Amino acid sequence: MRDDPVLRAATRAARLPIGAACAVCGRMAALVPSRNGPPILCQDHDRQRRGVSDRDIGHVARRRSFGSLTVLMPASANERIEDMRRDLGLADTPDPLGDPLLVHADYLEGRALIDLLFADHLRQLEAHLRTTFGDRYFEGGPEAPIV
Ligand SMILES: [Zn+2]
Repeated sequence: MRDDPVLRAATRAARLPIGAACAVCGRMAALVPSRNGPPILCQDHDRQRRGVSDRDIGHVARRRSFGSLTVLMPASANERIEDMRRDLGLADTPDPLGDPLLVHADYLEGRALIDLLFADHLRQLEAHLRTTFGDRYFEGGPEAPIV
């Protein structure tokens, strides 16, 4: 029950006001519920405020399969990857114990999670650009092909 993604999201949301965003960057994801009232900060800015590095070394393809394959990333991104892994029911997949098929599965899973993270980042960037520059921030471009 502890790893239930719906319960985790509801618990996290209950500790934050509706529409909460980081007071520094405006990000609405990976927020740290404040124990002492405002400001609400994202995980990266909360770590900066506390004097802790806002970077983590991520083992996106799993330490158990690719221990030396690491990515230096914002701590919030690393946590988001772990959240997605739990939300997708991938947190408790069997340890490959060297099995090449399962090791490759860990690699593909890490790649897919990075792709999902980038897709989410692009959507946040688009929202930021639209807020900053208005609906006309993007002037044209090729029309999407009709398939
Ligand atoms: Zn922030």
